[in-house]
Amino acid sequence: MADKPFKLTYGTMFNPPEELHTRFDEALTKLKANLGKEYGMLINGKDHFTHEKFEDRSPADTDVILGVFQKGSEKEAEMGLAAAHNAYPKWSRTPWQERVKLLRKAADLIDERLYTIGTVLAMEVGKNRMESLGDVAECADLVRYSCFQMERNKGFIIQLENDPLVGFKSTNVSVLRPNGVWLVVSPFNFPASLTYGPTGAALATGNTVMIKPATDTPFTVRLIAECFRDAGIPDGVINYGTGPGKTFGQALIDSLEVDGVTFTGSLDVGMGIYRDFAKYKYVRPVVLELGGKNPAIVSRHGDVEKAALGITRSAFGLQGQKCSACSRAFIEEPLYDAVVKRIVELTDKLVIGDPTDRAVYMGPVVNKGSYGDYQRFVDDLKKAGKILSGGKVLTEGNYAKGFFCMPTVAVDVPENHYLWQYEMFVPILMIAKVRNLDEAMRRANDVNFGLTAGFYGSKEEVEWFFENIEAGVTYANRPQGATTGAWPGFQPFGGWKGSGATGKNAGGYYYLPLYMREQIRTLVE
Ligand code: NDP
Repeated sequence: MADKPFKLTYGTMFNPPEELHTRFDEALTKLKANLGKEYGMLINGKDHFTHEKFEDRSPADTDVILGVFQKGSEKEAEMGLAAAHNAYPKWSRTPWQERVKLLRKAADLIDERLYTIGTVLAMEVGKNRMESLGDVAECADLVRYSCFQMERNKGFIIQLENDPLVGFKSTNVSVLRPNGVWLVVSPFNFPASLTYGPTGAALATGNTVMIKPATDTPFTVRLIAECFRDAGIPDGVINYGTGPGKTFGQALIDSLEVDGVTFTGSLDVGMGIYRDFAKYKYVRPVVLELGGKNPAIVSRHGDVEKAALGITRSAFGLQGQKCSACSRAFIEEPLYDAVVKRIVELTDKLVIGDPTDRAVYMGPVVNKGSYGDYQRFVDDLKKAGKILSGGKVLTEGNYAKGFFCMPTVAVDVPENHYLWQYEMFVPILMIAKVRNLDEAMRRANDVNFGLTAGFYGSKEEVEWFFENIEAGVTYANRPQGATTGAWPGFQPFGGWKGSGATGKNAGGYYYLPLYMREQIRTLVE
């Protein structure tokens, strides 16, 4: 092996060296010797403890307490936002070059602690080891990408044309400036990248931040907040508070001290936040990244192996709990039997178990609620159609104390069944046979969502697919994943329709301006 230390990136993720596994195993041993400790919120650079606590347990073995966290209330919401508010004047006036320097330091610390954070993430979310490390590495790269965009756009300061006024010199400058205190509410499934992608963008552009992670994943988010603190980001610029979404989260949304919000999560909660956030004396920016019901279409000219691999990976990676998970496949008649047969073969071979084990592809689903959802959906699909693989929870031996569900392939479900529309967020793939591509496209687009979509077919058909599919991230002929896979600068991520509010993708060219407002400066000399 080269003596240069290995760096996990978009390019190396698919083919990691042995060193990755050795370092993950070492970090795991250390973590297991240190479980169950109590962690505070981080407000104004200091730990804050509340009277009420909650336990963070592993979904792979609910006897394992990963840590004990603080149950925030309205009081902590006010404290966190006040700290962010006080830190704003100085941070927003800190030259962007200086901000970017500090953020790059934080990104380097995240990389340095990649294995420690990755093992926590695997145990906390139930995500397999490669994907856990990928989430953390992507989070550092998202922060760097925001830094890169600040540089590339020279701080978003643009000299405009002088006014054509005879006898005067009238210069004009456009400056994008921060909004103030930015709230980041993140989901459980990508606690690293979906908390710190938005946070990095907000901080690079000069906002200060209050973070509220999902109740299932406070630990990962805390460890990364420490990287920002240790990088020397001033107190109050980034604050981390934990507690239930319905109370603590809602108090943050209802506060008049928030100047902008990024929410990533379900459509229902996101729409509620959108409406509640509008109950103010004027309009404040809202960035929403919501659910998906992502389709893959396979044409009669598609490659059977590539299609089956891509669909299976996207359907069952992270147990179907990705916003980009492939939950619907539409296959043209001539290839239907061959693709379905291969998907079932691949699905039957997926290894389910302890997500920290290097051989495992699928861990447990995240909590009891999702476990119950899976069983209910399977029952409904059994009544409506046919299950070709899976359709059961696993409860024996090593599975006894976790939320393990078998990857499930369902066919022959009538087109009007509610599960063709509903985001299930568990490992269930529904497949339909279609007569032609027009029928496939109609059904693919016939949902409220428009996040990702995949296609397998000829070169000419691919152009037609890109042109007609209603989705923010689209992939063609990709065996690595039919509908999944995002990386800043490569596949910026965002959705149309009910999958997102801005039409601009995270980790992409148009993202940073969402966190700023324009000021035109006209000076007459
Ligand atoms: P939820 O919508 O249940 O929760 C997301 C976050 O919102 C959590 O931190 C939650 O806290 C919080 N929350 C809940 N209610 C409120 C409220 N009233 N006010 C403020 N905050 C609140 O989503 P999940 O965590 O279950 O994540 C899965 C969902 O996220 C799926 O729909 C998925 O598609 C979507 N998602 C979208 C992505 C995208 O980029 N478009 C990416 C990843 C996921 P608590 O945990 O305490 O309830």
